[in-house]
Amino acid sequence: MKRFETDAIVLTTCDYGESDRLVTFHSAACGKLRGIAKGARRSKKRFANVFEPSSLVRVQCREKNSFTWIEGCTLTQAYLPMRSDIEKWAYAALFSEIVLGMVPEGEPLAASFFLHKETLQRLERDKDPQHVLLLALLRFQSLMGYMAALDECEICRRALKTSPKWFWHPARGKLICADHFYPDRSYIALDTGTLALIQYMRTIPLEKTWRLRMRQEMKAPLLGGLLDWFRYQTRREIQSVKVIEQILPSWGISSSIVGSAPVRHAPLQNECRYRTL
Ligand SMILES: [Zn+2]
Repeated sequence: MKRFETDAIVLTTCDYGESDRLVTFHSAACGKLRGIAKGARRSKKRFANVFEPSSLVRVQCREKNSFTWIEGCTLTQAYLPMRSDIEKWAYAALFSEIVLGMVPEGEPLAASFFLHKETLQRLERDKDPQHVLLLALLRFQSLMGYMAALDECEICRRALKTSPKWFWHPARGKLICADHFYPDRSYIALDTGTLALIQYMRTIPLEKTWRLRMRQEMKAPLLGGLLDWFRYQTRREIQSVKVIEQILPSWGISSSIVGSAPVRHAPLQNECRYRTL
C-alpha cells in the first residue's frame, strides 16, 4: 500500500457505485490521475465543493489493490471570477478536455500541470481569453512533443526568413513554402512573423509566454488548426467546442478533419529541461 499527496486540477467527476465518486485529476506528481472518493455522494461534509471541474486542489491518495483511493482533498483555488464569465469558463473546459485526451495516466509531467494551472490563472484575469487559450494550446502541443521545428520548408529546405508566406499542417507538423503549396483546406496560411513568434515561444520560460501577441487575423486559423491537431490525435470530437458554438455565436473557428499518420516530434531541449521542474 502506497500513500501520496499532490497538487492537482479536477478534470471530470462522475458517480461510481452506490455512494462513491470517480474523479479524474491533472496532477503534478503523476500526470492524469483517477481516484475513487469513497462515500463522497453520501457524506457532503468530507469532500464538500472540492470536485468542481477546473478547481485546484491538494489531494491525498492511497493505492491499494490496483485502485487509487482518495483519502482527503482540500480546495486551494476555485477560480470563482472565471466561473462567472461564461466565455472564460468554456475555454477552461476546452483546455481540460484536451488535457484529458492527451496527458498519459501515471506518468509524471509536472510541466503540463503547471501550464494548466497558469492557464486558469491567466484566463481569470486576462481581457482576451481566446488569446490565452491559443497560447496555452501552442505551448501544450510543443510540451507534448508534437510540434515540428518550423524553421524551413519540408520539401525544399528553404529557410523561414527567405519567404514571407508559409503553410502549416498542425496535425502532421508539416511546414511548406508557397512554391510547394497545393490547395488543401487542412493547411493554415501563416506569415513569417507568426512562425518566428511560435519558435520564440518555445525558448522562453512559461511565465513570459503570456506577453506574446499574435496578429489578430492569425488567431482564428491557428486555434482551428490546433483543435484539428487534437481531433486527429485522439480521433474524437471536442465536446466543449459544441458548447462554445452555442454560447458564443461569434466563435467562428472553422475546422477540418485531416487524415494521415500522426507524427510525434522529439521535445525540444528547453521543453525537456522544463519537464524536470
Ligand atoms: Zn519549398
